[in-house]
Amino acid sequence: MKIVVLKFGGTSVGSINKIKKVAKIISNYRDKKYKVIVVSSAMSGVTNELIRKSKKISNNFSDEEYDVLVSSGEQAACALIAGCLVNNGIKARSWLAWQIPILTTNIHKHSRIHTVNTKSILKYLKEGGIPIITGFQGINNKSRMTTIGRGGSDSSAILIAKFFKAERCIIYTDVEGVFTTDPNKLNKAKKIKVISYEEMLEMASLGAKVMQPVSIQDARLNRINIEVKSSFIKKSGTLITKRSNIIDQKIITGISCTQNDAKVSLIGVKDRPGVAASIFQPLSRSLINVDMVVQNISSNGKETDLTFTIKSEDLNKTRKAILENKNIKFRNLLFKKGVSKISVIGVGMITTPGVTFRMFKALASKKINIQVISTSEIKISVLIDKKDLKKALNVLHNEFKLEK
Ligand code: ADP
Ligand code: ASP
Ligand code: MG
Repeated sequence: MKIVVLKFGGTSVGSINKIKKVAKIISNYRDKKYKVIVVSSAMSGVTNELIRKSKKISNNFSDEEYDVLVSSGEQAACALIAGCLVNNGIKARSWLAWQIPILTTNIHKHSRIHTVNTKSILKYLKEGGIPIITGFQGINNKSRMTTIGRGGSDSSAILIAKFFKAERCIIYTDVEGVFTTDPNKLNKAKKIKVISYEEMLEMASLGAKVMQPVSIQDARLNRINIEVKSSFIKKSGTLITKRSNIIDQKIITGISCTQNDAKVSLIGVKDRPGVAASIFQPLSRSLINVDMVVQNISSNGKETDLTFTIKSEDLNKTRKAILENKNIKFRNLLFKKGVSKISVIGVGMITTPGVTFRMFKALASKKINIQVISTSEIKISVLIDKKDLKKALNVLHNEFKLEK
């Protein structure tokens, strides 16, 4: 069976007109003799609205009910797509995760899919039907609804492609593919034709919302090629694949950035073993995600300064956790909102020296101050003032000739 999995994101099904367009894309694949499996996310804005409602009830809204609530948006979108196809005379129906079932781990809000049962869907495909499956949701071994993290329909689609041994997995979205940087932030961003799993994973984890990071890990582990393309414009998109399939490798492939970061500095912390652990343990217990960390070298061997970044929304929780922590002593505690992390990513930097220098020199030429630095084999990230972000994107895009 020649199976194609088509995933539609929130913006692709954001209105009735858009759903009608999506129905046309689906019929085109059917006309090309594919057995089509559709995965849809909720209409754009719906998931956010549901989360807002849960917060109006309580800041500690039950995790189990959160999953039932926020996964409901996908149900509505799938029924609308299926209804539209039926109306066009095509055999189609919606499938909710529990009806298949799609089985996940027991964790709520950030669960992981481990099994997709193929039996009923395969039967339906053989009968000529088009299944429209809810992304983002699953059930656990207690038969409770789970969700798999924001943007999780990408992961649903990739794992469905794996379990059905699909020939193709296409992620339809509101941009033409993966770009050198967010095309909604920089006009001259260029569409990337082919990108490796490793680079896409870094780009997504460092802020490129176009793909959910976990979904790229799923694709890499299962060697599933992903095509990302627009549901509005008929043009070729981006192929996400293994590194050895890429011939024309640039030094830098793309630039990602985050928007709402905050910087926390503890000045005059005792410089002795175990101090960093006692600072970070309560933060991790409060589920605060600590990102970049730097510790200055102690000049007198007694005291040091420790700086780290968090999401701005975690600032109050972080302040509370530090001030209530009886195990640490410091002279001063500083918080700074309005910082952004900008990262250049590319496997080419493994073999090409001088990328760090070029990045720092380019930022310096625009008088952009670097506050924190972190690196890995294929990325360099720096923390800068958010007000400098646009300037930084522009100068780095030029420096690494990404528009060429
Ligand atoms: P969907 O609703 O289809 O899941 P998302 O909003 O999750 O779509 O992702 C698409 C958005 O990702 C684009 O509108 C774009 O603004 C953003 N984006 C961020 N970085 C990139 C990038 N490097 N390439 C393409 N899009 C990007
Ligand atoms: N609707 C979910 C969200 O907004 C899942 C998705 O869009 O992939 O996070
Ligand atoms: Mg998305």
